Amino acid sequence: MAKKQRKYIFVVGGVLSGVGKGVATASLGAIFSAKGFRVTALKADPYINVDAGTMNPIEHGEVFVTDDGDETDQDIGNYERFLNADLGSVNYMTTGRVYLSVIEDERSMKYKGRCVQVVPDVPNEIIRRIEEAAQKRDADITTIEIGGTVGEYENILFLEAVRMMKLKSPGDVAVVLVSYLPVPSHLGEMKTKPTQHASRALNSAGIAADIIIARGPSELDRPRREKLAIFCGVRPENCISAPDVASIYEVPLKFEEQETGNNLLKILGLKRRSSNLKQWQDLVKKIHSAEKQVNIAVVGKYFGTGKYTLSDSYISVIEAVKHAAWHHGAKPVMDWIDSEAYESNSELVHDLSAYSGIIVPGGFGHRGVEGIIQAIRLAREKKIPYFGLCYGMQLASIEFARNVLGKHQANTVEIDPKTPYPIIHINPRQAKNVRENRYGGTMRLGAYDCALKKGSWTRKAYGSDKISERHRHRYEFNNEYREMVDHAGLRIVGVNPETDLVEIVELKDHPFFVGTQFHPEFKSRPMNPHPLFLAFVHAAMKRG
Ligand code: GLN
Repeated sequence: MAKKQRKYIFVVGGVLSGVGKGVATASLGAIFSAKGFRVTALKADPYINVDAGTMNPIEHGEVFVTDDGDETDQDIGNYERFLNADLGSVNYMTTGRVYLSVIEDERSMKYKGRCVQVVPDVPNEIIRRIEEAAQKRDADITTIEIGGTVGEYENILFLEAVRMMKLKSPGDVAVVLVSYLPVPSHLGEMKTKPTQHASRALNSAGIAADIIIARGPSELDRPRREKLAIFCGVRPENCISAPDVASIYEVPLKFEEQETGNNLLKILGLKRRSSNLKQWQDLVKKIHSAEKQVNIAVVGKYFGTGKYTLSDSYISVIEAVKHAAWHHGAKPVMDWIDSEAYESNSELVHDLSAYSGIIVPGGFGHRGVEGIIQAIRLAREKKIPYFGLCYGMQLASIEFARNVLGKHQANTVEIDPKTPYPIIHINPRQAKNVRENRYGGTMRLGAYDCALKKGSWTRKAYGSDKISERHRHRYEFNNEYREMVDHAGLRIVGVNPETDLVEIVELKDHPFFVGTQFHPEFKSRPMNPHPLFLAFVHAAMKRG
């Protein structure tokens, strides 16, 4: 049988970051899937960090966790949501990870004693990783998004890998430049010059873009399309208009209107194919027809940078709420509430009664925790639907121990290592990691099974007695308190069958009060919303 000719599409950024390169990459993947190709996606992150677990989430965004326990860039989450597929560690690389492999190979004499060089040995390792991911999925088409923007020092070795791959098999590699075309308010006109510069910067790395995705506040019009084509050396039909849209899930449709998929197939020497985008059309219809608002408060510590507040650190939570709300025909409105405010003025917590539901997402450390605990108490006592994700489950258990069991000093040892009531504690292996400063990649990570108790709401929601969910935490519910907590009404309804670790708590006699030690948000997909988010949003809608 002839060897399969795999095709590779690199996506690079121009002008500025944060313009939706990840969504553009994910949308291309969705389009090729809809054309019946086998598709996979990689993200190349220029940071030296070996994984995203040790990066600053405020600067870098959410840490997304895969089934196989990798801590990755949030774009892997975008790919999973758009491709409706589980990805893994092979789909993510950082500069640090690439260098680590090269150095380990050097130490084990894999280079047979020759001099190891930045070029070609580092790009070769990058290429090896790309090919490995393509093979693993047996992909016809692999998209590879390169973090940062062209012209930066940091991603030059990834661009060198593109150049080398293109040199080796020019017909199998396409390059997409996702660039930004500003419309300065004092001019009121869309400007192409920054993109022209980005295209030049790409040329100086030995690469020419085949397609330009022109992100901007409005449509790319004809004169500017022609300008881009001439100055950047791209055919006019390959300059794709990508204006801001109400929902990221419109992007695949927007691209397909312009034949982006078929144009790329042509560049890659493949025949054009029609695409079945019905489920995307249906989804977008649902999004636009949703009328009834459901108001959700997301309570956590303030995640500001300078004058700006970023919600990117919780992108999967936001998406999971949206998926569930749309499924129920509702329009989700999420407010970000800084729990520290309740610490200085506890009256303010009552404002939360105006919401239909409260979420406490994952988190670390002491800042804002006492305020969060006040919010959870309100949710419990006033019967406001509550969903606690990881830290939100741990803090719900602490709130219960304090205010129902009367153990007022109950805490997690993460915050108070000497608490007399360590409802959340640390196992010896994890304590050793912390003692020895082994933080990178050592949390309880990735997918673990969970057995669900008969008669629980959670089991009903899942429609199954055994589930698998993704984790990222170091501390655990302390089994010494299990019976006490369960008897008092915070029922332990999900347990890992191998380790007997508590995974889910659920409050009796409450419209919805669920805490999960895992992060269900990572597995929610637009076409397949997560059962617990569905149940939570349903309860929130009932509250009105
Ligand atoms: N800080 C807690 C832990 O490490 C919870 C982590 C989280 O919410 N992801 O166990």
